Amino acid sequence: MFVVSKNFRKNCLWSIGLLLMAWIGPKLVAEDNSNPHGTLRQPNIVFIFSDDHALQAIGAYGSQINETPRIDQIARQGMVFDRSFCGNSICGPSRATVLTGKHSHLNGFMRNGDRFYGGQVTFPKLLQSAGYQTAVIGKWHLETNPTGFDHWEILPDQGHYYNPDFIQMDGSRKRFAGYCTDLIGDKSLEWLKNRDPNKPFLLMSQHKAPHRNWSPHPRHFGKHPLGSILPPETLFDDLANRSEMLKESEMSIAEHFYWGHDAKFHGENEFPDHFMSGINNGEYARMTESEKATWDAYYGPENDAFLQKLRAGELTKEQITVWKHGRYMHDYLGCIAAVDENVGRVLDYLDENGLTENTIVVYASDQGFYLGEHGWYDKRWMFEESLGMPFLIRWPEVVKAGTRSEAMIQNIDYAPTFLEAAGITPPAEMQGTSIMPILQSEGTPPNDWRREIYYAFYESEGAHRVPQHDGIRSERYKAIYFPKSDEWNLFDLETDPQEMTSRHDDPDHQTILADLQQRYHALRKKYNVNSAVIPESRWQEKWWQDRFEAKLKQAREEAADLVFIGDSITQGWEGGGREVFEEVFGSVKTMNLGFSGDRTEHVLWRLKRNSLADQKPTAAVIMIGTNNTGHIMQAPTEVADGVREIVDTLRSVTPDTKILLLGVFPRGEQPSDQGRQNNVAINELISKFADGEQVVFLDLADSFINPDGTISREIMPDFLHLTAAGYRLWADGLRSQLQAWNVLK
Ligand code: CA
Repeated sequence: MFVVSKNFRKNCLWSIGLLLMAWIGPKLVAEDNSNPHGTLRQPNIVFIFSDDHALQAIGAYGSQINETPRIDQIARQGMVFDRSFCGNSICGPSRATVLTGKHSHLNGFMRNGDRFYGGQVTFPKLLQSAGYQTAVIGKWHLETNPTGFDHWEILPDQGHYYNPDFIQMDGSRKRFAGYCTDLIGDKSLEWLKNRDPNKPFLLMSQHKAPHRNWSPHPRHFGKHPLGSILPPETLFDDLANRSEMLKESEMSIAEHFYWGHDAKFHGENEFPDHFMSGINNGEYARMTESEKATWDAYYGPENDAFLQKLRAGELTKEQITVWKHGRYMHDYLGCIAAVDENVGRVLDYLDENGLTENTIVVYASDQGFYLGEHGWYDKRWMFEESLGMPFLIRWPEVVKAGTRSEAMIQNIDYAPTFLEAAGITPPAEMQGTSIMPILQSEGTPPNDWRREIYYAFYESEGAHRVPQHDGIRSERYKAIYFPKSDEWNLFDLETDPQEMTSRHDDPDHQTILADLQQRYHALRKKYNVNSAVIPESRWQEKWWQDRFEAKLKQAREEAADLVFIGDSITQGWEGGGREVFEEVFGSVKTMNLGFSGDRTEHVLWRLKRNSLADQKPTAAVIMIGTNNTGHIMQAPTEVADGVREIVDTLRSVTPDTKILLLGVFPRGEQPSDQGRQNNVAINELISKFADGEQVVFLDLADSFINPDGTISREIMPDFLHLTAAGYRLWADGLRSQLQAWNVLK
């Protein structure tokens, strides 16, 4: 309590101070950036962020495979967090969380390929409005242009290592000769040199490296030669004793290493049994002739020697995998060497310009990475290597040199921390907690600091086919939930730090699992995780993917006047309801977006993935939610929020389309059926979304229910799905409203 009230008082003082500064005017602010209570000046913030830098490849985290002297300098002069985690282990989502202090489901950037909504509150915007100069240089990867920065110069998407393009503030793309990591270092220093020295600053210097396809600068060729790096113990992990879902992902060094992109061979894939085809080394194509010659002079002989052995059949599959790992490590660690040098250049600049004392320097990376553990490269999974997120911080005025903290921190905490450091009260909507008290107490967290973190990965439809999962990690245990297979895995990180055996069905671990599940649900509640409103795909179900793509193709090719959106009951217009459908709607241009088994979250994913293409239908009939009831008996308030989100999304996509929002059909034979009652409660809530003009609510329940409240098998044989007679009743119920909208004659 003491800490809270102290911070509260400090923030109040700060707010008064900021108001005063705003009132007195910018000139005074420019001359004096000391803070109102006199001890701390408003610090500068240098946030150096790399991409996919694993903790296992940082000296300060005990790396056995490389040295990072300049990153380690931050550790020696500052603090290292040993339990630092991301909330969603993938590039764009991690960055969106850093900016907003919110988990993915609330900042809206859940998967790579999403578009970041730049209108939302971010910490750079708040710093900017408090008088900071703000800049972001390098990798951005949020699709929309940066907001809240006085200066930005960003890589398009992933960017390139060799002679990269940068997007300029006027929207143009400029290609720069040189190596990306050095260019980001150059541009960062250039901005620092040209800034207004009288104002505090935020610089986000964000490297592309060491992201795949790991292309080092020639000065680091041979720094970590083949054979010099011992593979991890779990390189040949068979993925047994854990969810079968693990075997679905495609990120194994043995099976999913590309001939050109990863292994750096030229030409046609000679050994498709050992290498994947289809992605060439795009970096090579960007090199100048002399760069190509330098590249080939290093890689050529090594590749030739290896291929000669392969052609002669001299290598076992294991030896080939070890070679791939060696090539991977040479390239990956070489990329990190350049990052480390460029961290050093920034630290040197701060020293040379007397800025060290009052500048917060953070080194972090958007998530961790597998360096062969479990046989993998890449990230995404909630296992330790990619869940971990390096976080080193130097701030001589506050942080004691050479300290470490075991406090559990997460990337939702960065924004509130930077804001509090600058004297700004973090907005309540930010979900993280400022780590200032930990920084001020040599790493010891307050007594009420969190004892567990929440993690959620959503991009199951993306590259590498890692299924959606979420979970909780406490100080000792980790429980992961897989919605597709509705199963839990449980790991004891103390006895099984490599996470090789799930204990979820071990009788001795049931109490522990139950405790974690309870805390998991509490976390989901705390972070406002309502699955009904969180867009989710079912990409790993082939039929669903095929249907989505077929419907998208249809949407692109022919305009529809009337669209049906829903689940299996809607899809059934193509099955048991087909004859009725043709009779009633045969003369209308229609599209059926009913997908069997869909819940509100799946419909949302489809709508947000532009499943209507650019169509503007006259009317849409929505009937959704019964699977939220049937699958997980979700609370009506949550389901109603999902339906509201669907209506809102549809309205934003096609504002003129009239929406006929149907009450969720009754289910269960008896009126006392719990699922039936749930749906009644949902309908009560969603009926309020209608405005009677653009959105009309229609509850057809009475058409399907006998006078005594039961449902007959002639209409719903399973008390859920409709017979042809049921579809007839449905069509009849729609007629008058659709006629009023001139969709039906
Ligand atoms: Ca990344």
